[in-house]
Amino acid sequence: MKQEKIKALLQRMTLEEKVALIHGNGLFRTEGVKKYNILPLKMSDGPMGVRNEFPDASWVPLGYTDDYVTYFPSNMALASTWNLELSHTFGQALGNEARGRGKDVILGPGINIIRSPLCGRNFEYMSEDPYLISQLVVPFIQGVQENDVAACVKHFAVNNQETDRLKVSVEVDDRALHEIYLPGFKAAISKGNAYTIMGAYNQLRGNFCCQSHFLLREILRDQWHYEGVVISDWGAVHDTEGAALNGLDIEMNVTTDFDHYFMAQPLIEQVKTGHIEESIIDEKVFRILNLMNKLKLFSSDRHPGHYNTPEHRQLTLDIAREAIVLLKNENKFLPLDRRNCNKIAVIGENANRIHSNGGGSAEIKALYEITPLLGLKMFLGGNTEVAYSPGYSSDATLDETARIKLHQEAVDVAKRHDVVLFFSGLNHDFDAEGIDKIDLSLPYGQDTLIEDLLKTNPNTVIVNISGTPVDFEAWIEKAHSVVQSWYCGMEGGYALAEMLFGTINPSGKLPLTFPKKLTDSPAHSMGEFPGSDKVVYKESIFVGYRYFDTYQIEPRFSFGHGLSYSSFDYNNIEVIEQSGPYNYLVRFSITNTSHRPGCETAQLYISDLESALPRPQKELKGFVKVDLKPLETKVIEMSLDHESFSYYHDKKGAWICEPGEFTVLIGSSSKDMRLQKTLRLL
Ligand code: BGC
Repeated sequence: MKQEKIKALLQRMTLEEKVALIHGNGLFRTEGVKKYNILPLKMSDGPMGVRNEFPDASWVPLGYTDDYVTYFPSNMALASTWNLELSHTFGQALGNEARGRGKDVILGPGINIIRSPLCGRNFEYMSEDPYLISQLVVPFIQGVQENDVAACVKHFAVNNQETDRLKVSVEVDDRALHEIYLPGFKAAISKGNAYTIMGAYNQLRGNFCCQSHFLLREILRDQWHYEGVVISDWGAVHDTEGAALNGLDIEMNVTTDFDHYFMAQPLIEQVKTGHIEESIIDEKVFRILNLMNKLKLFSSDRHPGHYNTPEHRQLTLDIAREAIVLLKNENKFLPLDRRNCNKIAVIGENANRIHSNGGGSAEIKALYEITPLLGLKMFLGGNTEVAYSPGYSSDATLDETARIKLHQEAVDVAKRHDVVLFFSGLNHDFDAEGIDKIDLSLPYGQDTLIEDLLKTNPNTVIVNISGTPVDFEAWIEKAHSVVQSWYCGMEGGYALAEMLFGTINPSGKLPLTFPKKLTDSPAHSMGEFPGSDKVVYKESIFVGYRYFDTYQIEPRFSFGHGLSYSSFDYNNIEVIEQSGPYNYLVRFSITNTSHRPGCETAQLYISDLESALPRPQKELKGFVKVDLKPLETKVIEMSLDHESFSYYHDKKGAWICEPGEFTVLIGSSSKDMRLQKTLRLL
């Protein structure tokens, strides 16, 4: 439909018809206008797949059998792949599933910055680093939207904790806002062209995000020229005038009194009494009709979409294979050689636990989920003895004696087997919407169990499954092999088996820092978490590795860290000036020095040696993931431009690029620099 036609349609609509389009009239849909063939806009969560069906006016699921779906790896798992192509195909598949389920908007991806390792929703987010998020989110959104489905990038903005998320006010300085918390969203809309964005629950500097003039008008509409649709988080609106005037387009809520939503009947009254101009409603409806037009809601050649395809299942396996991070591997204990492992003890509840059905709005009614235990048995076949013993339990009703028994049984099983695979970690009782963790510890007595297993059987490998870092300190020095897995989707358990036995060479890299202890994390050492009525981000721009490196705090595992069964040599760095201001080409070579095919993510960091305002010791400005055959060398090229050297000058209210010396650092992680070269900007 042409824009003129949309405008003409808008002219014909009554106030009531228009208002029906701008608020929920079902828990996951708006109302349409039948007489003009305007359909309701249908939405669904979420980042790990399309959620099950709910009735319009109840949170009790319908219980259908036709809403089982592909369970994709979490965003944290995707980010650990550092693979932009996978991000694109993930987006494509998610969009395809959403359209296949008849949806118009998929409520994801979630891209809030990981400020504290305690945030319950970290598993739904990607990273502590705005550059990594910005790179991953663009192809993801493009992929989703290729299916005539809108992505809804969320939660705009500074929704970095779950404690008091419905009301907490975030006090953050301009520099941190522009350098850390906003770039992912900016990239999502300016480069990814996200058709919709979700306003967050919390307040920013005393104003609710969905009513914030600063956030929605000044930044989103005026500075970023956003023409898409702003949807509120479910229940994030508190006032009719504030939401209507500051640029929110659709109000959604968790309650079923749809006519009483702030942007429903109360808004009609405000217009009728002359308090709010009808043109304000027209702007919103125009944007919504435009969105519908882009999604081909008025056309007969809309993408049909498909869900549960074999290709989607294969993709979840591909992502999981690249998401698993090998944290530690002393004496090359891994990969295991199946010929020497006739008897394997698999221990830990997480070896045998389904995770897809938890976490809050990200929960999935998975078509299936391969647990690590199932994956190992599928992979190894019938000639290997695989003995499972839970070792610990999340069941709060179990008494002390039962727990001791579980512990003892596991230690006994460990004694009798060649190799012990211990699956530690958390579950969605911890990694969940609406709650933050209270500390980093491993629950259910896992630390003592790990220590006992390590003493009992030196061939013990620890595989940790969690949405974010946990505290490994009690036993990490004694463990030779430690693997970090995430909520890795329906094929995650199989990918783990492949990786442990070496048919897959691990290539995941941490998209966030694993601290040694909670008080080493910037939000906890310099800032506040979770605050009270307000939370002050006193650590400012020093988030994640920016803090650890600048303040010389040794992390347990650094941002960007992840081992391979191969080893890589970096050589021959050149930094070549290009035409145009501040344009450089960085060239170097990587060699796979091993005899197996491997994959390395080379990371480029910039260190600003002289600047008017303090800057982090280094900042990620580029990365390349490269496949290398045994002993193969490849030449890698990355570009730098003025953006790579700039920082946000709060007094000037602008990004600036200062002349002076900068070091270009090339590393295998943020702490493992292999090459460097200094340049001077004039
Ligand atoms: C969450 C959103 C989600 C929405 C709809 C809210 O509570 O914060 O991420 O999309 O519910 O389920």
